[in-house]
Amino acid sequence: MAEENIQQTLVLIKPDGLVKSLTGNILTALSETKLIIAGAKIVQVDRELAEKHYNKLREEKGDEIFEEVLKYIQGHYHTNRVLALVYQGENAISKVREIAGETNPEKASPISIRGKYGRIVSSTGVFENVVHCSDSEENAEREIKIWFKPDELSNIMYPTEEKTTTKTELSWKEEVE
Ligand code: UDP
Ligand code: MG
Repeated sequence: MAEENIQQTLVLIKPDGLVKSLTGNILTALSETKLIIAGAKIVQVDRELAEKHYNKLREEKGDEIFEEVLKYIQGHYHTNRVLALVYQGENAISKVREIAGETNPEKASPISIRGKYGRIVSSTGVFENVVHCSDSEENAEREIKIWFKPDELSNIMYPTEEKTTTKTELSWKEEVE
């Protein structure tokens, strides 16, 4: 039997996906993959996180597109939230990208998530394509480590270490019995 290639991949339902109430549709489409969800949370995206996530985009596409894409993912045009998910299973990266479709929603297959729900903003040319998904094992590892802490995942695929910190954390004022 061929060896299994278990991967994790980062999926973001971007601010336009949330505002258009597409979460259910997107999760249903992704459930076709039979992958498991190993992590999920709502994140408010600040510039630092946006820049880190799209660290290659400035050199690839130039300042103008880069700045617009940063605004888009931070929710300037929709809502300042994304739903971040980690999907896990055999060939998770290509399975999710197949269902998500090509980056440009007009070139994406019409039955893919981006083909169905994405649009090109006429004033800026930005592809509002409702989801992000990692494109390689290297980027999946990088992106999962940016968006999630190890203890937020049900399965941990990368090496971890214990660190003692003195960080001040917000907690509930009244304890629940
Ligand atoms: N993007 C865009 N125009 C471009 C290239 C990228 O609007 O010419 C946006 C688009 O939202 C895309 C994101 O920037 O999803 C990241 O670009 P990348 O090339 O990594 O595409 P992806 O991996 O998301 O398919
Ligand atoms: Mg990419």
